[in-house]
Amino acid sequence: MSPVIPIRSAVSEGCSDAPVLRERGQREVFCGLTGIIWLHRKIQDAFFLVVGSRTCAHLIQSAAGVMIFAEPRFATAIIDERDLAGLADANTELDRVVTRLLERRPEIKLLFLVGSCPSEVIKLDLSRAASRLSGRFSPDVRVLSYSGSGIETTFTQGEDACLAALVPNLPAAAADAPASLLVVGTLADVVEDQFMRLFAALDIGPVQFFPPRRAGAMPAIGPNTRLLLAQPFLADTARVLEARGAQRLPAPFPLGAEGTTLWLQAAATAFGVSAEVFARVTAPGRERARAALARQQPHLAGKRIFFFPDSQLEIPIARFLSRELGMQLTEVGSPYLHRQHLAEELALLPAGTTLSEGQDVEKQLDRCRAAQPDIAVCGLGLANPLEAEGMTTKWSIELVFTPIQGYDQAGDLAELFARPLLRKLKLVA
Ligand code: SF4
Repeated sequence: MSPVIPIRSAVSEGCSDAPVLRERGQREVFCGLTGIIWLHRKIQDAFFLVVGSRTCAHLIQSAAGVMIFAEPRFATAIIDERDLAGLADANTELDRVVTRLLERRPEIKLLFLVGSCPSEVIKLDLSRAASRLSGRFSPDVRVLSYSGSGIETTFTQGEDACLAALVPNLPAAAADAPASLLVVGTLADVVEDQFMRLFAALDIGPVQFFPPRRAGAMPAIGPNTRLLLAQPFLADTARVLEARGAQRLPAPFPLGAEGTTLWLQAAATAFGVSAEVFARVTAPGRERARAALARQQPHLAGKRIFFFPDSQLEIPIARFLSRELGMQLTEVGSPYLHRQHLAEELALLPAGTTLSEGQDVEKQLDRCRAAQPDIAVCGLGLANPLEAEGMTTKWSIELVFTPIQGYDQAGDLAELFARPLLRKLKLVA
């Protein structure tokens, strides 16, 4: 039996003090390299050079889902097995690959060396390589490193490691600079534009998004920076931003009408927006979301859902599905449960929700089979075997590849869960 350790919190509503099943066994999750797929789309003049094996190259090619014919902005430098005496050669080889890449691609302004888990790569000091190469190529190109290794990261933690690597290089804002809002976490451009319009209508500003679309547009950080997390998997990034003086605004995440409203409310309160202005500006979005959710509700209400741990989005999405669509939560698993960042989410979960952190995959599969949910949310590795057993699944990776945040995406987010259930009904009919 895995130990059940009760979580205690100052708030005692919802699931704030619910017991959490902590498991440390075999995991079935993608590694942090996967984050490159959405990060390279976001920072449009960045390049991600994975220093890894053929397995790493295959992973990011298949996660990208396409063969790359045009000029890609990620690649893998394959380090073959070599002994310690060969490390000098590996560094020389890395320098040669980077030099050739940057000569050929002058539009690249930010280069990430991304570490992986093969032992030959672990022996290489990539942070030293990055500072050596940065010294050579700055100011035209900044070279940074982070790890996407499957030993250290699950798939969304790759973004956390990437953003945390950027923070020491962010400019400093003056101590007397006016208050500014920093939205942290990769959002699709269309979502970012919608939020920008809402913040402007609320007269909140200046507002910046991190990561920015261009390497030259990095935000300045200081004691008057108010940081609003847009993603729940950014523990390290938030920690280093707070160490530089930024103040986090506690809020649920902007998923669904309720989550989006409470997330915007946290910023509105910090910037002194009146209740009347807030209600007026957010009313049209809330109404659009309500109408879109009403269309999906009949397909989802009363359906039972089981979350395997994968993206760290599980708790906010479970909150949305239960509160706004009437779904029943059988188990909500998360690879890592950050009690502070998720305090507002946990308070909104129905009392008695079964929460689990980490994974012991065989035990969890047994619990899922026993629960017989209508739908299970899981990684690609578990989806096929579960479907073969007759279970309906939803790939958690779709939740990071699809724009799901904000009022105008609430209906799309619900539809991601309704679609596989409807497909199953058609197959059965
Ligand atoms: S980093 Fe590790 S887990 Fe990820 S693809 Fe490479 S070898 Fe596999």
